Amino acid sequence: MPVVGIIGAGVMGKDVAITCAAQGYDVVLCDHDPAVLSAAAGDIRALVRRYRLMAPDEPRWKDKAIPGRILTAGNLAELAGSDWVVENVVEDVAVKERVHRELRTVCGEGTRIAVNTSCVSITRIAALAERPEDVIGMHFMNPVPLIECVELVRGHHTSGETTKQAEAFVSALGKRPVVVRDAPGFVSNRLSHLFMNEAAFLVQEGVAEPEQIDAIFTLGYGHKMGPLATADLIGLDTVVASLKVLHDGMQDPKFRCCPLLQKMVDAGLVGRKSGQGFFTYGVPR
Ligand code: NAD
Repeated sequence: MPVVGIIGAGVMGKDVAITCAAQGYDVVLCDHDPAVLSAAAGDIRALVRRYRLMAPDEPRWKDKAIPGRILTAGNLAELAGSDWVVENVVEDVAVKERVHRELRTVCGEGTRIAVNTSCVSITRIAALAERPEDVIGMHFMNPVPLIECVELVRGHHTSGETTKQAEAFVSALGKRPVVVRDAPGFVSNRLSHLFMNEAAFLVQEGVAEPEQIDAIFTLGYGHKMGPLATADLIGLDTVVASLKVLHDGMQDPKFRCCPLLQKMVDAGLVGRKSGQGFFTYGVPR
């Protein structure tokens, strides 16, 4: 079975690892933070249990070997020889650039690189690679095992062959690829971050409480989640970082970050993963 190297064992990295392992791929999950790595195996077992409980009849969750297919690594060199490397480090362009510069010495021919990012330019990241034509944006959505759509983003250099291989890889994960071209925020986040940011402005201005704002989306528009619950799920730190990228990339003031969002991040109220955001959660994820 092909090997998938995953960089970043945060919210997305662990979910992408589980999604790949559930389809039989061998996974090497790499993070630079030893505390994150030592918690990863326990987190993965707990997440797999949760997904199994949510969909007990799905054959993929009956496989007891899923956590065992995910090895952890503290060093990017351990990803050498992977068929795909999926990068999921923090939404900070300088950090992503450092990681992709280092990948030049790790990934040989035959390794394709997927960048999982909310807004960072795929073209800019690919330009740092040894073979920019082998790099593509692979925007998974949270929670990865439950969301069917993956937005594939063709950068300036991405080849037709890499796009074809990425569509095949995403389809093998049981998902539906949607191919778009590179632009700040692509399609999904250019739209969704306007909703989330404007919803935060409504809370800041006291126009409505988070519950009321989200109810209009769930009850009124039939969305599964409202914009503020979505922001909590993504992580308000990631939302703020993405708004900055959109603001810089588009040079358009409509993407200016709501001060309340920044204040909540400064206070450590970053959403589900901290236990508190616009809503309160029992256990941090
Ligand atoms: P996160 O903060 O939960 O995790 C990021 C992980 O990257 C951390 O564990 C951190 O230790 C690790 N990391 C940082 N620098 C590293 C390095 N140099 N080498 C190895 N590991 C490093 O972030 P996340 O929510 O998982 O987001 C990851 C990426 O996925 C971001 O680009 C984000 O925009 C994108 N994304 C997030 C969501 C979401 O809902 N959270 C959805 C789609 C896409």
